[in-house]
Amino acid sequence: MTKHIFVTGGVASSLGKGITASSVGRLLKSRGIRVTLQKLDPYINVDPGTMNPFEHGEVYVTADGAETDLDLGHYERFVDVSLRRGSSVTTGSIYRAVIDRERRGDYLGKTVQVIPHVTDEIKSRIRSLAQDDVDVVITEIGGTVGDIEILPFLEALRQFRNEVGRNEVCFIHVTLVPHIGPSQEEKTKPTQHSVTDLRSRGIQPDIIVCRSDRELSKSVRQKISMFCDVPERGVVAALDTRNLYEVPLMLHEEGLDGYIAELLGISSNLELDLDEWRSIAERASTPSGEVTVGIIGKYIDHPDAYLSVVEALRHGGLANDVKVNVEWISAEDVTPMMAQGMFEGIDGVVIPGGFGLRGIEGKIATAMVTRETGIPCLGICLGLQAMVIDVARHLAGLDGAHSREFNPEAPYLVIDLMDDQKSVTEMGGTMRLGTYPARLLPGSRVAALYGDEIVYERHRHRFEVNQKFTTRLQEAGLQLSGNSPDGRLVEFIELSDHPFWVGTQAHPEFQSRPNRPHPLFAGLVGAAVRRAKDH
Ligand code: GLN
Repeated sequence: MTKHIFVTGGVASSLGKGITASSVGRLLKSRGIRVTLQKLDPYINVDPGTMNPFEHGEVYVTADGAETDLDLGHYERFVDVSLRRGSSVTTGSIYRAVIDRERRGDYLGKTVQVIPHVTDEIKSRIRSLAQDDVDVVITEIGGTVGDIEILPFLEALRQFRNEVGRNEVCFIHVTLVPHIGPSQEEKTKPTQHSVTDLRSRGIQPDIIVCRSDRELSKSVRQKISMFCDVPERGVVAALDTRNLYEVPLMLHEEGLDGYIAELLGISSNLELDLDEWRSIAERASTPSGEVTVGIIGKYIDHPDAYLSVVEALRHGGLANDVKVNVEWISAEDVTPMMAQGMFEGIDGVVIPGGFGLRGIEGKIATAMVTRETGIPCLGICLGLQAMVIDVARHLAGLDGAHSREFNPEAPYLVIDLMDDQKSVTEMGGTMRLGTYPARLLPGSRVAALYGDEIVYERHRHRFEVNQKFTTRLQEAGLQLSGNSPDGRLVEFIELSDHPFWVGTQAHPEFQSRPNRPHPLFAGLVGAAVRRAKDH
């Protein structure tokens, strides 16, 4: 029977609940236990797909095309699993299902209420992940226990525990232990209060993960154990680490996975094997060199908006045994500052995905500068589109070329709406989403990097390279190095006489893992290392 772990948070947001859930997943998987993960987000949006990255950070796309919370990216990277749509649940999606059912008449005239109808729907989403091939479902609940929107979720978890049996479920509560005042005393009150909140909803945590910037003293552990009614073994310190990859190792040192296995009565014949993970954490902390890669973004004060790109660059660093320093460059600054050598000292560039007019000319200018100066450049989705516009305008003689997204009146729409997008009117969940295959051109750089002819990548876009211009672009020197297998969509582009100038219509960052760095990011960082050596 599948067991369940629920991860809640208290005191403050951004305490690292997602990393905690991911680390627990990694540790259990390393013990040979089959895990899957899920995020319950209490906001009303049906999914984060329509949210501004300022508000919510990156939208993470699953293989089956769900637009989800960025924590799913942490889960996939740490646990190396491929999650599906069901792993992402929001209040909006719950209410939508309940209201659809009500409209169909399925409630047979009953008054539809939070208890039992909304809570039943939440429980059924949790149950739907408990398949035969899963030993443990780890479910993280977004927000903190005091939030208004979280109440139906906590109530559903309380009922769930009662229904499946106490030993089948384990509650982990993540809190903060701050150090305050001249004496820098460790304070347990915030933790006590948030546990009181949780208990007032009928949930007694089994484990309390205490985020703290320094070691927890024995007496503080005892105090939390006593006031929160959790055995001392269940009080786990989560301290700051040198890199993210060390978190599972630290939690293991604290005995977290052993205690969970005991609580849930799960045993496995396999010895815990953390060797691969240890080696990743070690290599991340002791690189043999470093390179600087610029990310040309719109949301440079909100690095979470490009989280998977940054993580994939780190993986590319692991593949090349270097640390990758990310330099955030505002796309809007590129054009005015171009003359001032703003790319000096930068060994490589990523032009990431994006939407909307702001900053687009800076991205096109970046494509041009990197093309002309030999700086390695990887264009992702909108990045590829900017590269194509640069080649069109500056090499193919298509003056004023643009994308329909930014100027539908442009003389040459080298980037145009995909055919199947033309009838779309709704914004949510209507892009070309999820995994699609592409066929790579034999002998191209991308084919060499992937070491494969057919590759699968995740997508999230409405626009594409206009087939009307592909011959003009090729004549100007652009290599179309990958197409959709039916030949109708351009998926990869490159320049063969450049150290690394590669664009993809996909989002390769979503499939990069610390143990399997993505070939395009490994390739970009490798080219950046060569450039750094030459300069
Ligand atoms: N805005 C572009 C499109 O919709 C690119 C999208 C992206 O970069 N994810 O095609």
